[in-house]
Amino acid sequence: MPLLQRAAANSSTALLTCRTAKTYNLSRGRLSFPRQFYRPLTVKSVTDDDIRELAAKPLHPLTLGDLVKHGRPPLSAQALYKSANFTLSILPTRLAHRIQSLRNLPYIVVSNPHVSKIHNNYIHSLSTLLPWAEKEIKTLEDEVKFTEVMADLVHTHGNTISILARGFLEARKYISPKEVTRFLDEHLRARIGTRLIAEQHIALHFSSKPHRELNDKDSKNGHGGQNNDNEPSSSYIGVIDTELRPASIVRHCESMVGDICELKYGVRPTVVINGEPDYRFAHIPTHLEYIVTELLKNAFRATIERGMEREPIEVTIAPLPKDPSVNEGDKGIRNLDQGNLDEASKTIGGTNVIEGNYPSPSAHIRPLEESTPGVTIRIRDRGGGISPENYARIWEYSFTTFSEDQINSTLSDGSPSEGNGMDAFNAITNSQGGSSLAGLGYGLPLGRAYAEYFGGGIAVQSLWGWGTDVYLSLRGVGKIG
Ligand code: ADP
Ligand code: MG
Repeated sequence: MPLLQRAAANSSTALLTCRTAKTYNLSRGRLSFPRQFYRPLTVKSVTDDDIRELAAKPLHPLTLGDLVKHGRPPLSAQALYKSANFTLSILPTRLAHRIQSLRNLPYIVVSNPHVSKIHNNYIHSLSTLLPWAEKEIKTLEDEVKFTEVMADLVHTHGNTISILARGFLEARKYISPKEVTRFLDEHLRARIGTRLIAEQHIALHFSSKPHRELNDKDSKNGHGGQNNDNEPSSSYIGVIDTELRPASIVRHCESMVGDICELKYGVRPTVVINGEPDYRFAHIPTHLEYIVTELLKNAFRATIERGMEREPIEVTIAPLPKDPSVNEGDKGIRNLDQGNLDEASKTIGGTNVIEGNYPSPSAHIRPLEESTPGVTIRIRDRGGGISPENYARIWEYSFTTFSEDQINSTLSDGSPSEGNGMDAFNAITNSQGGSSLAGLGYGLPLGRAYAEYFGGGIAVQSLWGWGTDVYLSLRGVGKIG
């Protein structure tokens, strides 16, 4: 009997391998593991010494290459163990670094209940990983349990952004916007990597040979097996789509953001796509979806506030040139990440653009081992642009000019009014359901963190009084297995 089946004979692991798989929608990149399916994980209490020791170790520089090095799915059992052991070798250090960095915040900020909730989440996750610290995963039973630990990690940290946003909003008297931005830039970038590592292993687990064997057996026995809707398409390697078509993501996000506008404000700006809509490259769909959603929300909001719905938002898909000598973007994008940040003018994808004045930390950005040039996506709106005072602050976490009143009064009589200060809290509440158009002030800085994670970037060029151009550049992964 294949090992995974034997492992699944144990009732609790069977829950993960069968039932959870059904709620795991890989093709849309959503991971959901219902809490009630978990058995309690083995935990080991975390001491300050554990944290100090782990945090003293250097961070592994994560590359897209790391995520694809175990080969194309379906992985064999051996390759799956390698993925699990690799994951295990880098996560505890990453979590310990985050805990240290939270503890280095001013005491009054860490003691805020929301910030301290995040600290406790990290302690919880580290305590579920520590029992594995000295182990090598070499049986399917262990691999299944380890995947449960990864599922718990992804689940536990799901609401981090809105919780931290609330915490820092409440603690804003005690910490400057600059310090918050410095902390969040590092913290949220590290979180992107940690989630990616965990989600990649989970995705590889569900598309592995042993897992499929189990499902085949299940369906033959009339147990139902796995719903094939959840099977990854063959262009996927874990969470990476090697045939990702940016134009499809833009259309999908347009429809989501359009729904919010229509529902809340009764208008729906339109989008035209030009350039090379059929361009495809290897990237992570959930990341592109996050960034494009945020950029379209900004463009739609500006368009509505300005009463310019008749002017479509123009999205241009421009693949970067293949010849590296022509591709000035290569240098420019890396410069963003190499601390060369005082320069006002940068080059992204061969286009000169003006950068926001908030530097991004270089610690989490690594050059790709194998990369294809990738793509620049320009989003151009006629929403009136960004005033020079505001332009200086757009990369701050929490900076927003959003007010529901303003947008509503623009729609009714065209005369904007001041916000009442509750919009940020409303946006936090709404951000969990994804139904808010703006207000958290995290769209641009966090979008840029996602773009820069694998050597891309975001640059904003405002033509005050007219409109805004946003350049999103992303690198592709090179040839894969
Ligand atoms: P939020 O949308 O929650 O306010 P963002 O980080 O997405 O946060 O944007 C910060 C601010 O930058 C916005 O409040 C707005 O003032 C300005 N901004 C961003 N994009 C645009 C745009 N396309 N047109 C006009 N203003 C913009
Ligand atoms: Mg926004």
